[in-house]
Amino acid sequence: MNVGIIGAGQLGMMLGEAAQELGISCRFLDPSENPPAAGCGDIIQAAYDDADALAALAEWADVVTYEFENVPVAALSHLGNTPVFPPAPALATAQDRLSEKQLFDQLSIPLPGYHPVDSLEDLKAAIERLAFPVVLKTRRLGYDGKGQFVVRDDNDLQRAWHVLGGPALIAEAWVSFDYEVSAIATRAADGSIAHFPLTRNAHVSGILDTSVAPEPDDELAALARDYVTRLLQNFDYVGTVALELFVCGDRLLANEFAPRVHNSGHWTIEGTACSQFENHLRAVAGLPLGDPEPARYSAMKNLIGTLPAGIRDISFLHDYGKTERAGRKLGHITLVRDTAEERDKALNSLNRRLTT
Ligand code: AMP
Repeated sequence: MNVGIIGAGQLGMMLGEAAQELGISCRFLDPSENPPAAGCGDIIQAAYDDADALAALAEWADVVTYEFENVPVAALSHLGNTPVFPPAPALATAQDRLSEKQLFDQLSIPLPGYHPVDSLEDLKAAIERLAFPVVLKTRRLGYDGKGQFVVRDDNDLQRAWHVLGGPALIAEAWVSFDYEVSAIATRAADGSIAHFPLTRNAHVSGILDTSVAPEPDDELAALARDYVTRLLQNFDYVGTVALELFVCGDRLLANEFAPRVHNSGHWTIEGTACSQFENHLRAVAGLPLGDPEPARYSAMKNLIGTLPAGIRDISFLHDYGKTERAGRKLGHITLVRDTAEERDKALNSLNRRLTT
């Protein structure tokens, strides 16, 4: 089985590593010089919308998938008859925050109030409706908190418009959430779904810092499963999806979804019998899904900007082989322990080690 993957970053690398275990061959399309997935299969070095490169990938592959959600949807038409999973409508919806929120509404998945903003007048109308503070976001191409501005009062209005005005925007009500979680699941073409345990996430400066799992609140986990199931069924989805949610007491509010494997699911490589990466490949390759249950208690810590010296001995370190740059995800460490207490203790001592 040959799987073509658009994108060869760290998610592509971890898909490639899982593919090796399954005896699946991967080939990647990526414009960068020496991307993280280079050791996992041939790289077609070209732009994501290069028609000839996409056709060459499709020619070789039995099925094509992607590892990031900003693949131009129009580019997929160059793949001819080779199937692409997850389905293009899921990709198109996730690329536009307005379509994404309208879908949550349509599926009765609760979410923060929102208002489309295309002019300063729209922004004023949004604030009338939602009240301060609101988060102004670009509808497209935002990630890791980029393309966002928190508008706290009238003084911020002009500045927010000055910084973000131009592309289509969306204003969202500010949510004073208790914490954030992600519901990751994989759906196969036969409709079966493997739900990974609910994962609790902490961000620093808009970038994911830490994920811990399983989240002990069974009621929240059941609610999240229900919401992610609605999303998967809506698209007749094949592959892994991540739904990010805000926890507000006993309620969950949807923030966004990613139609791909997700950073908050990296811990599943060591923490579950079958990882999000393996299950994604199983789904797109038409193999039966594996067991997503956690063996023990896991934490994942992202390594951002620099890879500190003296961490090579830590299990389980994943180094993406990227050059250091502020804000760049360079690797991660997963800790797996027998109890939640031991896991939390190990995470605290890792955090201390990384900051000294
Ligand atoms: P996003 O790119 O939409 O995932 O936003 C990045 C991070 O910003 C989220 O993980 C939250 O921590 C925070 N954030 C985004 N939207 C809101 C909101 N409406 N209210 C409060 N915090 C938010």
